[in-house]
Order: sequence, then C-alpha cells, then structure tokens
Amino acid sequence: MLLFTTAAELRAYAEAERCAGRRLGLVPTMGALHEGHLQLVRAAAAACEVVIVSIFVNPTQFNNPEDLRLYPRLPEQDAAALAPAGCTALFMPAVAEMYPQPTVLHFDFGPLERVMEGAHRPGHFNGVATVVSKLFHLARPHAAYFGQKDFQQVAVVRQLVADLSFDLELISYPTIREADGLAMSSRNARLTPTARAVAPLLHRVLAQAALRVQGGVGPAEVQQHALAALAQEPQFTPEYFEVADAQTLQPIMGYEAGRAVVLCVAAHLSGVRLIDNVVVD
Ligand code: AMP
Repeated sequence: MLLFTTAAELRAYAEAERCAGRRLGLVPTMGALHEGHLQLVRAAAAACEVVIVSIFVNPTQFNNPEDLRLYPRLPEQDAAALAPAGCTALFMPAVAEMYPQPTVLHFDFGPLERVMEGAHRPGHFNGVATVVSKLFHLARPHAAYFGQKDFQQVAVVRQLVADLSFDLELISYPTIREADGLAMSSRNARLTPTARAVAPLLHRVLAQAALRVQGGVGPAEVQQHALAALAQEPQFTPEYFEVADAQTLQPIMGYEAGRAVVLCVAAHLSGVRLIDNVVVD
C-alpha cells in the first residue's frame, strides 16, 4: 500500500493508473476506521483495481471547534487496517496541503441542506462539498464510495456530482452496526461507559418508529413519540427527529405509495453528537 501526503503525489499516481487503463475507486474518510469504513474499502476493492482511501479530518466541515479538537485520530492503526481490506493507496494530507489558502467558494444545495444536518450544523455541507470536490479533482476516480449512515451527505454529494458533471459513479452502502444496534461511528470511542450502555436506544427508537410508519401512523405522531422515547433517557439530549421523503429529505405530512421515507435522528450523549437513520420503503 502506498502512502501519499501531497496532492501532487496523489494526482500523479491516479493519473498514471487511469492512463494504464485501470479502474479507480475512492473512499473518502476522516479516519479512526471501523467496519463501516472497511466495508466501503472492500466494496471498492471488489470492483476497482486501484483503491484510494483518504484520511483527512476536514476542518471546514466542523461547525464546533471542540468536536474538531476531540475527533479521534489513529493514523497507524488505520493504515494497518487498510492494506488487508484492499486499499492500494492511502492519502493522508495535512490541513495546509488541502487548504493552501482559505477557500472562498460557497455551495448552496437549496432545500436539501436547509434541513437536519444542514440546518443544525451551519457550513457543514459547504465544507463537505469543498473537500469532496477537491478529492474528486485530485483522484478523478471512476467510482466513489459513501455510507448511508450519513444519509443527507450522500444526497448532497449526489447533487454535487450531477451539478458539476463529475464523471464518476456514486455508490452507497448500508449502515454497519454494533451487535446491540448502535451505528458504528468514529465518535463512539468518545462515549463514556455509562453513555455507551444507553447509546443503542437511538437505534431502538428508530426501529420502533419505522414499525409505526409501516403501520400507517402519521409522521407528526411518529416524530412526537420518538422524541418522547428519547427524552425518557436523561443522558440523551435530542436535537431532531425527522420523518422525511427519502429522495428530497424534506419533512412529510403524510405517506405516498411508491415514495420511500427516511427517519433521521441526531442527539447528544455525554458530550458526543450521534446521528442515525433508517429508510422505510
Ligand atoms: P467518516 O470517516 O465518518 O467521515 O466516514 C467516511 C465514510 O464512511 C462516509 O461515507 C460515511 O458515511 C461512512 N460510514 C461511517 N460510518 C459508517 C457506518 N457505520 N456504516 C456505513 N458507512 C459508514
């Protein structure tokens, strides 16, 4: 597995591999890798001869400086996990390498970013779109792999790819969970043992809400019930629970045949912000 820290190295490598006729897959991450990331790397390796994984804790997508400061960083452990999963090149740039000058570009994804993560984390998707665009330009992959754990991010990146005509296939994979249902997340490492013990409630609430949606209970009632269930656990501070159209991500008033629904939740637990979602077809 090759290791690059400069944009020029990555660009030259990817260019040479593309010219040699090989298929390139890109998996953008912020590191502290777990099974959720590694399934994306394995999927890329199954379909592409060249698998580029980026590890970059992107400061421009953090709206909370404390969250950025405390974000887990485990470069050696990550590098050791990547080669066996099929990664051929790891790109680990410094902040100054990705941002040699402050960016001034602004993305506006319209209604897509006025809800949920976009509404609660000002500037978040601007930072995501900036760094993802940079990575797409540097690596020019044939395929890019993302996790549905960040459901809204996939929708935003899909819009980005369409609007800027990136010539790549956007592929997303389902959320990988711990045995007790908690969605794997690099931030889970920051949970205290008592917080970790109650953390699976987030997924249980989603699963129960999904059953209610399937049973025809109205979106407002599903939302109210879910927020009340979360409030039962004093360690949780819910930020939002939305019943939304899985395509547009806009909150819905009722259900329509043939339109999938996504239930999305964000909550704080012992100072850690967790998100999760489930899709109801
Ligand atoms: P991150 O390092 O958190 O920025 O995540 C990098 C990529 O891995 C993103 O596309 C995430 O959606 C994806 N990912 C993170 N956690 C999971 C998970 N539990 N299951 C599936 N994909 C995930």
